[in-house]
Amino acid sequence: MRVYHDEDADLRLLQGRRIAVVGYGNQGRAQALNLRDSGLSVLVGNREDDYANQAREDGFRILPIHEAVANSDIAMLLIPDEIMPEVYDTDIAPQLAEDDLLVFASGYNVAFGFIQPPPSVDLVLLAPRMIGAGVRDLYEAGTGFPSFIAVHQDSSGQAKERVLALAKGIGSTRAGVVEVTFAQEAELDLFTEQCFGPAFGHVLTTAVNLLLDEGYPPEAVLLELYMSGELSYTLSKIAEMGLVDQSALHSRTSQYGSMSRGLRFILPELRTRMEEGLEEIRSGKFAEEWAAERKAGCPTLQTLREAALALPLRQVEQELRQALHRFPVAQHTYVRQEAKSRDTDSISAEAAPSSPVEGLLTHLWDRLRRKTSGAASSAPLAATRMENVLQRFLALAEEDPALREFGQQQEMTIHYVLHEPELQFYLHFSDGAVKADLGPPPSPAEVRLETHAYVLDGMLSSRINAMRAALTGDLSFGGDARLAITIQRIQDDLCRLYGQARHEVVSGDEP
Ligand code: NDP
Repeated sequence: MRVYHDEDADLRLLQGRRIAVVGYGNQGRAQALNLRDSGLSVLVGNREDDYANQAREDGFRILPIHEAVANSDIAMLLIPDEIMPEVYDTDIAPQLAEDDLLVFASGYNVAFGFIQPPPSVDLVLLAPRMIGAGVRDLYEAGTGFPSFIAVHQDSSGQAKERVLALAKGIGSTRAGVVEVTFAQEAELDLFTEQCFGPAFGHVLTTAVNLLLDEGYPPEAVLLELYMSGELSYTLSKIAEMGLVDQSALHSRTSQYGSMSRGLRFILPELRTRMEEGLEEIRSGKFAEEWAAERKAGCPTLQTLREAALALPLRQVEQELRQALHRFPVAQHTYVRQEAKSRDTDSISAEAAPSSPVEGLLTHLWDRLRRKTSGAASSAPLAATRMENVLQRFLALAEEDPALREFGQQQEMTIHYVLHEPELQFYLHFSDGAVKADLGPPPSPAEVRLETHAYVLDGMLSSRINAMRAALTGDLSFGGDARLAITIQRIQDDLCRLYGQARHEVVSGDEP
């Protein structure tokens, strides 16, 4: 195991070299200030706007990006990854000279082939494992923060020494620097964002939902699980002492209980899902999908963001933060985002502040559970009736002009897997035709939705919001998220056809 420290890096290698920090945002500002405080020559490349004003206020010379790169020997690219290829092509690549040092803070664009610098430059990675504010604060505190470095091209023969010197300049060798490859950095970063983070989030929301269903007070549940700050404090102790050794900080009851019961939570499916996620990242499938999503103007991201912002849990959290006198909550946050949805009574901005916080929390939570549990005005359908409704619904879907039109624009198969009763069906759209039947699809589906029959019944009767059911774990989803979001375009038609089928079957069965 090799970790590089101050004694492994020599700042003199960078003396007399000019560094262009491109971008003055989270990382840009922190790294520029640290490098200057380490005695290095830094100028900033940025457009004329607030970021440029901030850099000027901090005493830096500001140039347009292409001029900053042209006037430097080292270019540190500290702008958002998604816009970097474009900025690289127009402002950076034409200005690169032989043996220049090109520094990335994320492996993404190089690892997935969106940027291919010429072989005549040193191409390195210096990726702090710390947010920008921490990069500056921990430099000033003297402790530093860890970073990953990588060398992708070594034109000068000194690329590694040069990136280690830069790591020392930003304060990272004080804490420790680890060498990886661009691909490893990018894959680990995406894995944390796409697999570890969401899995952890679902563990948290599953626990919240269970405890609320069991009648524990919402404010006590949120405090117990994460809002007291105990969890984040414990995580900082795990980072400091290690997963096993930090358990000494907990009571013996806690140690015995968590170790003896912990064995029950070794879930093989979790690993399978993580393996699938990692494979999607490594194969470049995610990078390809994200590039297409950006090109289309990020419609899927927008839909997912709106759904997350409308989650009642967010409101409950805000109420609790206010009750704890942490960060005042703006009055407008009381207004329900989805006030237009059919089953939702809205909380008005005027009424909420005068309501007792406890009552409001309980009220919000009651409604959250009502919505996601599918409790609704109409009773769940019995197994045979559900099957009959679905059969009729699928027959209607095959003949429906609106769905056929959708099939002209979109080729895909949606596979629904239902529980209680156990049923499966699919809808296949292709060449302006719709093929729909009970049972699994004849060929693998692009989108797979798995849920309880009563949740599907609620979704197709407009009582349950599908996005919310997915975000709260009542609906599990597999496959292509961008395609899945396009189903929203026909959601009203699916509801119309399901409503007709449900009405025909239910009224036909009545004596
Ligand atoms: P920011 O979002 O903070 O970057 C903002 C900067 O980018 C501003 O200077 C902004 O200036 C500039 N910028 C934005 N759009 C454009 C554009 N179209 N053309 C030119 N400049 C633009 O980025 P981060 O600091 O968060 O990330 C920078 C790099 O650091 C990324 O590679 C990221 O992966 C990596 N990283 C980030 C970490 C973090 O904690 N944030 C941690 C570790 C690595 P203006 O809008 O004026 O042009």
